[in-house]
Amino acid sequence: MEYISTRGQISPVSFKDAVMMGLADDGGLLLPNPLPSVDRATIETWKGLDYQALCLEIMTLFANDLPGPVLDGLVKKAYSSFDTREVTPLVFTGQQYILELFHGPTYAFKDVALQFLGNLFSWLLEERGETMNILGATSGDTGSAAIYGVKGKENINIFILHPKGRVSPVQALQMTTVPDKNVFNIAVEGTFDDCQAIVKEIFNDLDFKSEYRLGSINSINWSRVLAQVVYYVYATLQLVRDRGAEHVHFSVPTGNFGDIFAGYVAKQLIRPAIGRLMLATNENNILTRFVLEGRYARGAVVSTISPSMDIQIASNFERYLYYLYNMDAGRVRHAMNEFQNSGEIVFSKEERQQVRKDFASASIDQDQTLNTIRECYKSTGYVLDPHTAVGVAAAERLAQNLDDQPVVCLATAHPAKFPAAVRKAIGREPERPESMKNLENLPSRCQTLPADVEEVKRYVMENAL
Ligand SMILES: *Cc1c(COP(=O)(O)O)cnc(C)c1O
Repeated sequence: MEYISTRGQISPVSFKDAVMMGLADDGGLLLPNPLPSVDRATIETWKGLDYQALCLEIMTLFANDLPGPVLDGLVKKAYSSFDTREVTPLVFTGQQYILELFHGPTYAFKDVALQFLGNLFSWLLEERGETMNILGATSGDTGSAAIYGVKGKENINIFILHPKGRVSPVQALQMTTVPDKNVFNIAVEGTFDDCQAIVKEIFNDLDFKSEYRLGSINSINWSRVLAQVVYYVYATLQLVRDRGAEHVHFSVPTGNFGDIFAGYVAKQLIRPAIGRLMLATNENNILTRFVLEGRYARGAVVSTISPSMDIQIASNFERYLYYLYNMDAGRVRHAMNEFQNSGEIVFSKEERQQVRKDFASASIDQDQTLNTIRECYKSTGYVLDPHTAVGVAAAERLAQNLDDQPVVCLATAHPAKFPAAVRKAIGREPERPESMKNLENLPSRCQTLPADVEEVKRYVMENAL
């Protein structure tokens, strides 16, 4: 399988090189060429597989430059850190199917991808005899999932910036209580925007970047999308096999378009077993406006009770744009330039129709989110986290346009990660899972630094591999 850029200005690369490249060298995003699909006979043989075995089958299609036993080992290692063998269990609340993606070490769905990517990076670096220093900024979930993905790896150090006092106490503790010596937490005296600006400026210093072999694990890395394709297929085949479903619809709480793009890839892969993809947003609804109005236009970010979706520019959107433009990389390049300048991309009538064939969408506000948590709890006893609730509410709103086939709502975080919002909805905090109970009593490590590029650079230099 070869990988190309959405902007068409690099020569095709292998899976391994695509993972190491992250962002394509021409500024675009990497995609497999062609996007694979499998026949019915193959799908039949996949129906009886457990998560790990299915994962290996799917990844082998996309990563055929990795030896089979290596890939097998990476998959097993990644998912042995989950607290259930099923990895992503599908539960029925009595009202809807919930695909629980939060059984990894940090209780958010990002573990599914980052547990795999951490092991993959480490293996690729070892093969090349290289080391890497990962640098990133977080407003919450990504930082801890990234840290847990690479902690203890000998050829990787990780530096994660978070805004001091501005991430939730649980999220801060999840990052700072990791004892491994390759983990460096930096609490920046500033906002999340300051953190991001610092990281961006350091990556723009190309000499520094190459001298310290800086790497990033943000959501544009192809291997993150790939790891997420698996659970769509897993849940679909389970419902086809056990419930006689003809096809399955999905509702996806969306921020950077990474998770729902994985759904789009899964849909092509096992055609026609996946039906509608419902794109659920909170008040930060650039993507809902795109689906409903055919305009992709930047707005201001507002803070919500589902903070991991508080995003206006969806970093994976360009991958879908490439297919919407019939794989015309020149047009993608042009449109992204235009977006850079004017903050907007406008689509033709035909394109709008295509978008509405590919996705349905709804934007759910704070009151509706809290109501959904409350109603679900009252009628089923199941506690939704606020991100998952956005997806459930969108599925309910869009239900009248669907046929009678099952709908799966992706549960992207454990409710105990967002206790304040849950308390507001149901009057009490959710039960914390065992390993989260003890966080306050563990020793924690964190370096506080001013919001200053030079200070952060100096700290990285002193502690880099
Ligand atoms: C990151 C995240 C999302 C959004 O996922 P995208 O791939 O960015 O669309 C939703 N819910 C939670 C809890 C997250 O951490």
